Amino acid sequence: MKTKQKTVAVHAGSRLTGSKAVPVMPPIFPAAVNWFDSSDDLSDALDGKDYAYARISAPNAALLEEAVAALEGAEACVAYASGMAALRSLFDAQPWKAGDVLVMPTDGYGVTRALYKNLCARWGVELRPLDQTSPDAPARIREWRPRLVLAESISNPLLRVPDIRALAQACKDAGAVFAVDATFPSPFGQRALELGADYAVQSTSKWLNGHSDALGGTVSGSKSSIDPLRSARILSGDVLGPFEAWLTLRGLRTLPVRMKAHNEHAAHVAKRLSESPLLERVIYPGLSSHPDHAVAARVLEGGFGPMVAFEIKGAGQKEGDRFLEALRVAKPGPSLGDVGTLVMHAASASARRMTPEERAQAGIRDSLIRVSVGLEDPDDVADDLLAAVEKGAGR
Ligand code: PLP
Repeated sequence: MKTKQKTVAVHAGSRLTGSKAVPVMPPIFPAAVNWFDSSDDLSDALDGKDYAYARISAPNAALLEEAVAALEGAEACVAYASGMAALRSLFDAQPWKAGDVLVMPTDGYGVTRALYKNLCARWGVELRPLDQTSPDAPARIREWRPRLVLAESISNPLLRVPDIRALAQACKDAGAVFAVDATFPSPFGQRALELGADYAVQSTSKWLNGHSDALGGTVSGSKSSIDPLRSARILSGDVLGPFEAWLTLRGLRTLPVRMKAHNEHAAHVAKRLSESPLLERVIYPGLSSHPDHAVAARVLEGGFGPMVAFEIKGAGQKEGDRFLEALRVAKPGPSLGDVGTLVMHAASASARRMTPEERAQAGIRDSLIRVSVGLEDPDDVADDLLAAVEKGAGR
């Protein structure tokens, strides 16, 4: 049959043939659908043994999942379109009954708090914020017998560091599922599963990607705990696209070398900041003044993390804005995990979706600034922050 031009236009050049080359970086597979010469092969693919339709499974996301699972020390990993989608999937995976309890940190990421508050209200689940760094946090968990406990390895934005091992034991005793959002240290700085967590969550939009050019999220754990999430994702459609998965995998290749430098730079910047008389306090888990310094030395690896926070003496929103606008090296961007330093006013950005009462309960003051320390020369970053603090403080 001689095909006509319209047909040629649709089908020509769609098979790769003749090359034995193995690309050093995997190709990007944008195909949402794949076809098979054999019906048996198509049937196998629809059973999950091959790639049929990208909402079921797709090569770039699968490669990323394999890499993140290996970094987390996990049997399995499932990738999502964002960190929030990953956190949402964890909530959805629990067999909630009205009256069940969900525990999360008092000062955790404000958007996670808003999401879980909303979902708990709809399901009749009681959300109990808990200071997970307090010595009696494990006892509260044993007493409350929650269905799900979420912790943050280093909390956003106050950089508190809970004892994940102690919380994991309490969750086991209470029969609770224990999920740890380890976005701040990344798997370089904490492998939450090895400390006893059931799930390790990452917003890959941050350190894993490392270059602020793709959103994404992952949940890692045992094969039996991840399989139901993977099946649920086919129905929710919360998949990670091929371009984002490819960019994230490329970024992740340098995670350990980047994180070693980010951690060292953060420690240096924190030390420089702690010498300033214009700052109320500098928050960094590596400083001996940090309330969780000893715990952090036990539960974090490769340093004390890439994040620093501080409070400018007497500052409110106006002084905070003046400080952000005076930055010359660091950028006032509402995220973290970039090669460059990103600075954020906590109350109006990461904690924006918390009520003023929730912020007060969490101890997030209007003067709080959060810094994701980049790979620039750390003295340039410290000089820039200190000069902007002077301008913010009106000097
Ligand atoms: N978890 C933490 C600790 C975060 O800081 C963020 C975002 O800032 C998220 C989850 C959400 O991730 P995403 O922005 O990829 O949805």
